Amino acid sequence: MTEDRFETRLSLASRRPVKSHGYVNPKLVRGSTVLYPSCAARREIGKRRLEQEEIYGLYGSETHFALENVVAEIEGGTHCQIVSSGLAAITVPLLAWLKAGDHMLVPDSVYGPTRRFCDSVLARYGVATTYYDPLIAEDRLAALMRPQTTAIFSESPGSHTFEVQDVPMLARVAHAHGAKLFMDNTWGIRTFQPFRHGVDVSIQALTKYVGGHSDIVLGAITVATDEDWAWLRAGALDLGQYASPDDCWLALRGARTLTVRLAEQERAALAVATWLADRPEVLRVLHPALPSCPGHEFWKRDFTGACGLFGVVFQPEHDYDAVCAMADALRLFGIGASWGGYESLALPTTNTITRTEGTGRFGGEMLRLQIGLEHTDDLIADLEQGLAVLRGQARTTCASPPCMAGELQDGFSPDGTA
Ligand SMILES: *Cc1c(COP(=O)(O)O)cnc(C)c1O
Repeated sequence: MTEDRFETRLSLASRRPVKSHGYVNPKLVRGSTVLYPSCAARREIGKRRLEQEEIYGLYGSETHFALENVVAEIEGGTHCQIVSSGLAAITVPLLAWLKAGDHMLVPDSVYGPTRRFCDSVLARYGVATTYYDPLIAEDRLAALMRPQTTAIFSESPGSHTFEVQDVPMLARVAHAHGAKLFMDNTWGIRTFQPFRHGVDVSIQALTKYVGGHSDIVLGAITVATDEDWAWLRAGALDLGQYASPDDCWLALRGARTLTVRLAEQERAALAVATWLADRPEVLRVLHPALPSCPGHEFWKRDFTGACGLFGVVFQPEHDYDAVCAMADALRLFGIGASWGGYESLALPTTNTITRTEGTGRFGGEMLRLQIGLEHTDDLIADLEQGLAVLRGQARTTCASPPCMAGELQDGFSPDGTA
């Protein structure tokens, strides 16, 4: 059946039947109040909060359910809950599952705001976190498990530093202890099937490639069993999680072209990464599809492709200010957080990295690149002139604002915002 192939399934998911009268796409439904024919009908439908029923605004509408089904299809799970942001897609399941006295293992390379949530809210609520080397061996990870360890968290590849994790091993250790494996799978959208590799709860920032146009903030949590769905759904409703149907509708529109955008951005990013790897200014390219990336062997084994986000480590003689001067000089790469949109971005990352275990130091200053849909040759030409600025052989010519990364080190800041 050709319908078994991903692209076809994505095209058909949450659509009207191919042959029927009516618009192709689901409706954009805004609403709070839902009317019932009788009090008895209201009581009956109210019991079905685990199903895709239009019960009340917070419980979701046709628009939310359509997007949830599309994300579940992409992730290969059975149920999905849309929430207000990618960060909420991390905090909601952790609050739904964890309780006071629990202990969780989190990779040292985790997305900065996830770390902040563990160290602030979860710590206050009595949940302890231990950070582990994202490339830890199985026996050392097993040794970190305590009787109270109820969750292992994974993010693969790691934020900013791109260590690819051995997810099936994490699942083995978690499940041997009766713990759940949570994974932030934002980078691996489409190319990593979390439930085939033992993940229990998969997290997506739809803000990135599903939205795809830098115009929404949205998150999704997907599970693959009815039992997990009952926990997730209760947690999301109890926490009052809701997302704007307008944003869901935009995410659904973005999802329809996900495969072509991803394929092009994967190709372009690999071309740029390969070009950079040969440059004398570059010490190492942190692109999971290249052997120079830590954990590349796990990418090769478990992923079917890559997205357009990767890191560059410069030779040690190029300091942080030089990397900022290069970023300032780039004409096609904006300086900004987030990724997965149509536009290219560059972000000096060294000063935004927090580590407990001392991982993620690669011997030089780092720049993270998100490759957009501009022509690859134009992007490479832009990087070429940027490298001349890095070397101090050219001056920054454009009037970009001064690099603000130095301010990101203390207090509340968008540090680690990816
Ligand atoms: C961006 C990002 C998030 C958070 O998404 P928001 O929608 O910006 O809250 C979470 N995890 C990863 C890996 C991200 O890159």
